[in-house]
Amino acid sequence: MEFDDQLKELRENFKAGGLKTYEQRKKLLKAFLASLQAHEEAIYTALETDLKKSPEETWLTENGFVQTELKLTIKQLKKWMKPEKVCTNLINLPGSSRIYHEPKGVVLIISPWNYPLNLLFTPFIGAIAAGNTVVLKPSEYTPAISAVMKKIISESFAKNEVLYVEGEGAEVIPALMKNFRFDHIFYTGSTAVGKKIYEAAAKQLIPVTLELGGKSPCVVEKDADLDVAAKRIVFAKFTNSGQTCVAPDYILVHNDVHRQLTDALQKYIKAFFLQPEANGYDYGKIINKEQFDRLVGYLGDGTIIFGGMYDKEKMQIQPTIIEDLSLEDSIMQEEIFGPILPVLSFTNTNGAINIINRNPDPLAFYIFTKDDENADLWINAVPSGGACVNNASVHLINPKLPFGGRGNSGIGSYHGRKSFTTFSHQKSVLKSSTWFDPKLKYPPYKGKLSMFKKVTG
Ligand code: NAD
Repeated sequence: MEFDDQLKELRENFKAGGLKTYEQRKKLLKAFLASLQAHEEAIYTALETDLKKSPEETWLTENGFVQTELKLTIKQLKKWMKPEKVCTNLINLPGSSRIYHEPKGVVLIISPWNYPLNLLFTPFIGAIAAGNTVVLKPSEYTPAISAVMKKIISESFAKNEVLYVEGEGAEVIPALMKNFRFDHIFYTGSTAVGKKIYEAAAKQLIPVTLELGGKSPCVVEKDADLDVAAKRIVFAKFTNSGQTCVAPDYILVHNDVHRQLTDALQKYIKAFFLQPEANGYDYGKIINKEQFDRLVGYLGDGTIIFGGMYDKEKMQIQPTIIEDLSLEDSIMQEEIFGPILPVLSFTNTNGAINIINRNPDPLAFYIFTKDDENADLWINAVPSGGACVNNASVHLINPKLPFGGRGNSGIGSYHGRKSFTTFSHQKSVLKSSTWFDPKLKYPPYKGKLSMFKKVTG
């Protein structure tokens, strides 16, 4: 694998100011949008092949999501690019202070297979908006959509703007980094691989954004609207067969309403995904054999109260609810990332928090309660990347909310304007006037202490 010449082209184009101006960036983003729209049918076909997603689900979670981000970015870009004026402190007067958003340079974006288009193209929008040249490394496990994305990129970007590395696995990363220093690496995927990326980046002091995973807990209090809770949990958990980084990993439900909740969960699983006439239209498949076998392995833990059937030919596992689990069971130790939902009971808040703290810093935390104060108590008690009250997963569709993890679930964030700042260097620039320059500021200092305290204290 030799990328030296292509990487050199990206570097030279960046240095020559290929994406420096607002007009250049806007033109590229518009061409990208047009290409994305032109290939809409191919996107649906490819994601049906790779993950058995319906066009409707694909629109909601993949190309529709990306188009919303793109349109917002095109609309706001001029404003975002403008240096931000901030106040100037007394000792620096007369003068003015601004934060410039400088492109980082050549950036690398590495993405996983579960939302292959969204998780490659959403950060990519930020990278282009911020004026970088880009290397895109999609997952090797979604070849159909990967080929379509390559086409979209090749039709809207030149070779010295974007390098699309298709079909390669983990081994391509060292090859890309061997003779080349990236200016930022944006990685989405597992925590285990995220650590390797961080280590490789640290050797060259490359800044990183790490969008990782983890066990996102979902608490249901006894005062919750159980019908609404069940509906929203089922939607967030079983869409894409549970292969969603912010899916509720497990439920902690107050003991008093345990059975009512599990009954409602079953009602909505049947209504959303198991209607005979729908013939499985809205229910996806597991990405590959390795993931399938890992998930089937969890079915031996606890007691299955719903589902539990699987079909290796179709690579599908029924939406499944499991109870009677021990915290030592592997399903309670590892991120599930599939359509299996453990339901545990709690009687007091501290007991529930102790369970959550066994896997600290989840990517998301969900609390269902009608009591606002109680919701705030929970939100403050559980450090997490993001959170929802009376909902699950949907915080990530508001572009005004930066999306990312903390600690084990990641470093940094993106979406909306935050994607633009993630791929920019915030350069602080102080402009001083020359017409006023009192001697008082300079040595000799003797006798000026009280005056210094006044102007700098
Ligand atoms: P993964 O870490 O196996 O792979 C992700 C990408 O990294 C792929 O492109 C892969 O080729 C590459 N890769 C794999 N091993 C590598 C290595 N040693 N060095 C360099 N690159 C390597 O992840 P996955 O299985 O594709 O995705 C599942 C995980 O991603 C889950 O943990 C999930 O929670 C997480 N995830 C997080 C988010 C988020 O936004 N925080 C979104 C989706 C998925």
